[in-house]
Amino acid sequence: MKSFDPCYFREQFPLLSTIDKAASEISSLVYFDNAATTQKPLTVINSQQDFYQQINANVHRASHQLSAKATLQFEQSRQLAQNFINAASIKEIIWTKGATESINIVCQSLARDVLSKGDEIVICASEHHANIVPWQQVAKQTGANIQVLPLTDSGYIDISQLDKVITQNTKFVACAHISNVLGRINPVEQVIEKAKSVGALTLIDGAQAVAHINVDVQQLGCDFYVFSAHKMYGPTGIGLLYGKQCLLEKMSPYQSGGEMIKTVSFNKPTTFNSLPFKFEAGTPNIAGVIGFGASIAFLKPLLTNQDKKYQLFEAKLKHYCFLQLRDIEQVEFLVSGEPDIGVIAFTIKGHHNHDIATALDTYGIAVRSGHHCAMPLMETLKLDGCLRVSLAPYNTIAEIDFFINTLKGILSGETLDDNNTVNAVDLKDIHLEGNSSKPTELAKIITLFSSTKGWDSRHREIMLLGKTLPRLEKTDRDEHSLIAGCESKAWLKSSMDKQGNYSFVADSDAKVIRGLLVIVLAAFNHKPAKEIAEFDVSAYFKQLGLLQHLSPSRGNGLLAIVDKIKELTSPSE
Ligand code: PLP
Repeated sequence: MKSFDPCYFREQFPLLSTIDKAASEISSLVYFDNAATTQKPLTVINSQQDFYQQINANVHRASHQLSAKATLQFEQSRQLAQNFINAASIKEIIWTKGATESINIVCQSLARDVLSKGDEIVICASEHHANIVPWQQVAKQTGANIQVLPLTDSGYIDISQLDKVITQNTKFVACAHISNVLGRINPVEQVIEKAKSVGALTLIDGAQAVAHINVDVQQLGCDFYVFSAHKMYGPTGIGLLYGKQCLLEKMSPYQSGGEMIKTVSFNKPTTFNSLPFKFEAGTPNIAGVIGFGASIAFLKPLLTNQDKKYQLFEAKLKHYCFLQLRDIEQVEFLVSGEPDIGVIAFTIKGHHNHDIATALDTYGIAVRSGHHCAMPLMETLKLDGCLRVSLAPYNTIAEIDFFINTLKGILSGETLDDNNTVNAVDLKDIHLEGNSSKPTELAKIITLFSSTKGWDSRHREIMLLGKTLPRLEKTDRDEHSLIAGCESKAWLKSSMDKQGNYSFVADSDAKVIRGLLVIVLAAFNHKPAKEIAEFDVSAYFKQLGLLQHLSPSRGNGLLAIVDKIKELTSPSE
């Protein structure tokens, strides 16, 4: 597909077309979480299957034909990758697990060797954790300091601050080409130029850029460029590190073992393989690399076509979605103005972002809520988290309309109606306990959910249960009661009576978490430590039909609540 056609493009993605066709039987999908990972086109899926079915063999080492075929395809992908970003040499393309591992390689194989006390590493305020934590680690190892480039009101790296932040002490500058939250194309050319002027090395995190803009690393002039295949229609678990050959030559290997060696002896020092293999220890992700090559072959013609239809369609979707969201009174964007790519972050006045994301999910609309692996950015913006809609060119205007109408319905209370009544049990006395003729809280919850079918109804019941949870005083919501590991803020306190039974009170900013707290507390309240320790919480959630429906972050949140209860009631406490 040289020239972009939206319908044909969408048809290339079997997951979307399967769901389109089956929409009347199973819930439909509006996938607006493309910044997390994109869906995969048939050509990528087939390339991996064909590899396993037709040419599966290890690469580089064997002397048989099958290995020669596998090696050829494997190395053809490297050529495609070289061409994709216009690297000067194929030796500059190192296969990694993804952007995260690529950054770790630079930090541990180069920065660790060259940094010393007082040196500075400059990153930007909107970085993904993948481009923060590896630098924090190497700063700790070497005594270097981290300096942060601030943002403008519209969410770009503030270039007016470059001279102040990037100084003679700066040894590395690492920043995202495009923020995964703000969707702004950062002025990386100016950042690189400034870094060069003080002799600092540059790493550009292109994880969110490569699916949207044509990248030319030689034109950019950066020292390192990193990205992952899965955000550009390729497989998960594979990505690359581009590095200037002269730097890669000097760097020590990241991992050691097979493939990255030239000679190994018990009597002489081991010598290392040449580039790029020096950084590719062990059997590589061969199918992943071949799939990565297929995704590049799929995407590159679209990105470089002179008609720009791919980019124009992306821009049209983004602009339409932005305008529709802007028209909703309660929507507050994180920064001013329209993003450059279809990554739109916002909060909704009076609603917790997790409640909105969970409600949208009941309509098959997949958006992201939380900190988006950019906790320092949330801190800067004084937010706990936000909602993020991220679009791809297989999305449609009709999907945006459905999303906007559903969101408006949720906000107008059509779906989370305060006047809704709970149908299965009378929840008025759900917290009254101790009368043996009355069912326990636990039994009530089980009865309620056993008569509730489907995720929509269960979600509704969770939201209604949330309303029955008494709110905690503000003074009780402190760092001691905070539940670590729960993405929305949640707090839990315990007390024990004379008989050794524990009681819990809890609260959260998010309604959906308050509902889940009621469910969890019903299992643990008024029980002694031994019963709490022995309670099979997984079986309980399974019985309620929750496990298969809760999103990973909600599932982790549930486990974090249970962990806190167990921590508070374990004998050592
Ligand atoms: N950098 C940015 C800007 C990202 O958005 C992400 C993933 O979301 C990463 C780095 C890390 O990518 P991966 O998890 O594929 O290594």
